[in-house]
Amino acid sequence: MIPFNKPYLTGKEIQYIEQAVKSGKISGNGEFTKKCHDFFQKKYGFNKCLLTTSCTDALEMAAILIDIKEGDEVIMPSFTFVSSANAFVLRGAKLVFADSRNDFPNINENSIERLITPRTKAIIVVHYAGVACEMDVIMEIANKHKLFVVEDAAQAIDSYYKGNPLGGIGHLGCFSFHETKNVISGEGGMLIINDSRFSKRADIIWEKGTNRKEFFNGEVKKYEWVDIGSSFLPSEIIAAFLYAQLENLDIIQKKRKEIFNFYYTELEELSKSGKIQFQTIPCYSTNNAHLFYFLCSDEYVRNELLTYLIDNGIYAVFHYQPLHSSKYYNNLYDSRNLENAVDYSKRIIRVPLYYELTITEVKYISYTIKHFFLTK
Ligand SMILES: *Cc1c(COP(=O)(O)O)cnc(C)c1O
Repeated sequence: MIPFNKPYLTGKEIQYIEQAVKSGKISGNGEFTKKCHDFFQKKYGFNKCLLTTSCTDALEMAAILIDIKEGDEVIMPSFTFVSSANAFVLRGAKLVFADSRNDFPNINENSIERLITPRTKAIIVVHYAGVACEMDVIMEIANKHKLFVVEDAAQAIDSYYKGNPLGGIGHLGCFSFHETKNVISGEGGMLIINDSRFSKRADIIWEKGTNRKEFFNGEVKKYEWVDIGSSFLPSEIIAAFLYAQLENLDIIQKKRKEIFNFYYTELEELSKSGKIQFQTIPCYSTNNAHLFYFLCSDEYVRNELLTYLIDNGIYAVFHYQPLHSSKYYNNLYDSRNLENAVDYSKRIIRVPLYYELTITEVKYISYTIKHFFLTK
C-alpha cells in the first residue's frame, strides 16, 4: 500500500534530540527553540516567532492576543480544518462562515465585506494547500473596518504572496509542523507576531500567564501570574527535531516540487480532456507543493476513484466537511448557502505526496488514475 503520507527524517533529528537531552535542559525555550526562532526570523524576516506545541495552540494564542470575547464575530472560510474555528469558539466567538472562491478553495475576499457587522473583530484566512489568499484586498478591508487578520498558514511554509512570506502579512500568523506538513516535528507549530503591539503579551501568554521572560532578562526580581495563558511552548526535544528539519528545508521543498511537477505532467492529458480539474494557483502566489489535489466532475466519480485507488494499493483521501454543515456547528449556523465550499468537499481528491515517494510510484499512481478514467 502506498500511504497518503510518510514522515521524512532528514538524518540529524536523533542526534539533535540526544544533544538536547545531554545538555540537561529539556523543557521549553532553550537553545534549540532559539535556533528555530532565529532560523525563521533570518530566512523570512519575521518580526517575532514563538514555537508552540501545535498550530492549534498558535491559533489559540492568537485568539487570546486579539482579545476575543463572548459574542465577538470572526469571519473565516467554512472550507478549513476545525482548528481554525475551535480556537475562536473556545473564547466565545460567533463564527461567520464565508464561502470559498470558485477557482480555488481559499476564502472569497469579495464576500467578506458584506459579512462585517459592528461586532466583527477579526478575519481568519487559510492559505489552503499553501496557496496565498488575496492578502492586499483582505488587509485593506481589515484596515478600513479596524479588524485583525490572523493567517492560518498551517500548510503554507515557504510560500509567498507577491514576494512576501505567508504568515508574515496579517497581524498574526500560525504554522503547523504536524507530521503531515512539509516540515515536521510530530506535533508542533509556531505563532508569528507581525504586529509588535502583541509582542510583550505574547511572551506572557506563552509562559502560562507569567512574566518569566522579564525575570530571566533581569527586569523583575521574581516572576508571577500577570495575565491569562497556558503551556503553549514545546519542549527542547521537539525543537531539536524541528531544527534538523529546518536545516533541510530547501532540500525538502525542492523534492516536493519535483514530485508535484511530475504528477502535473503525468496527469496533464486528463486535465486537457476535462476529466479532472487541476488546482489553480493564482499569479500572486507561489506553490510550496504541500498538496497535490484535483477535482473530479462530481461526488460520485470522486468516491469511485477513491475506492479504485485503494483497491489498487494507493491511499488517497479527501477533506474537508465544510464546518458550517458539521455535526457540531450545524444547529448554530445561519443557513446561508456556501456553494463553493460544499462543492470542493464533494469533488476534491488528494493523492500521496511525501519526500520519499519515488518517481516510479508517482508513475504508478498516475497510471492508475488514467486507467480509471479510460472507462469513464
Ligand atoms: C494542519 C492544520 C491545522 C492544525 O495544525 P496542528 O499543528 O495539527 O494543530 C490547522 N489548520 C489547517 C488549515 C491545517 O492544515
